[in-house]
Amino acid sequence: MNTAHNIYIHVPFCISKCNYCAFFSRACATPDWDSYAEKIISEIKYWHNILGRIAVPTIFFGGGTPSIMPTKIFAKILNAIRKNFEVLNNTEITIEANPKTLDATRLREFCDAGVNRISIGVQSFDDEKLRFLGRAHNADDARRLIDDAMAQVKNVSADFIYGLPSDSVDDVIKTCTEINKIGLPHCSLYELTIEPITPFGKMNLQMPSNETMAEMYMAIAKNLKLNRYEVSNYAADGSECRHNQNVWDGAPYIGIGDGAAGRILIDNIWYEEMGDRKLFKPLSDSERAIERVITGMRTRRGVLLDGTTKKIIDIEFAKSNSDMIEFRPGNRIRATDAGILVLDNLIERLVK
Ligand code: SF4
Repeated sequence: MNTAHNIYIHVPFCISKCNYCAFFSRACATPDWDSYAEKIISEIKYWHNILGRIAVPTIFFGGGTPSIMPTKIFAKILNAIRKNFEVLNNTEITIEANPKTLDATRLREFCDAGVNRISIGVQSFDDEKLRFLGRAHNADDARRLIDDAMAQVKNVSADFIYGLPSDSVDDVIKTCTEINKIGLPHCSLYELTIEPITPFGKMNLQMPSNETMAEMYMAIAKNLKLNRYEVSNYAADGSECRHNQNVWDGAPYIGIGDGAAGRILIDNIWYEEMGDRKLFKPLSDSERAIERVITGMRTRRGVLLDGTTKKIIDIEFAKSNSDMIEFRPGNRIRATDAGILVLDNLIERLVK
């Protein structure tokens, strides 16, 4: 029997394209959902044929905007997963949602189909900033969906973006205060990065300085009541996103749909998979170990020092940089608060 795999399903459609977005998605509010579902289900069957009826600890519908899916299509896909894999009573089933696309009734239908975690793309509680970002919703839409979700779903998360040209440290603190007031159990706060292929990439924006960005980042940890458990993710104890935590920790996952990536484990050999079965090539132990160090060092849990990671980590470097890297019980290392601020550079030096 093959080992359990987490599942990521990509839904590459959005009602409109945001000004900062370089994700694999396109503006298309009414795609041909039947052929989309057929394609996804044929991939589910493909993986069933390769892996058998494996257990599935988590399923994550990301995008794009999965919440624009008709709930019948969503239920059809989830049923196909149930038919082909072992979905457990405690399998975490997440859907990402845009506040413009979901009312309380449709949210109930998603939950009835099996959703037990929702991740809402709020980005800001300020209408002017939302317009600047090119979001399709306003702040009240977001507050309403958060309220509906907190009434119906146990695990609710919201995404925010900070570091807009107009942002100050006080703006970031204001966002944290509102998150605390609402009592969200999980949220992600991402620094705005400008990708050349986006509308923002062509606008020559005056971004906050690196020092101001760092101040904003530190203000989040200081003002948010939630604990940071990954560079950009914060949660109350026990409300961490299990899907992402598993992936960052190096567990195998299947990526389904165009633009999805996966890491498959068969007979102790890791394979790289780029959605749509496009690329299915073996990874060497050291390639996989490097990936685990890169994702694990972003987390509070850190990286497990086992046979493969020990071969590529410069332990002496870690020991002599105790202000940046700490050794943890359970044979793990992680970045300190100071290390997190220079993480990319730190990882480069940590890997031999
Ligand atoms: S909703 Fe998300 S995936 Fe869609 S365009 Fe906006 S940022 Fe990109």
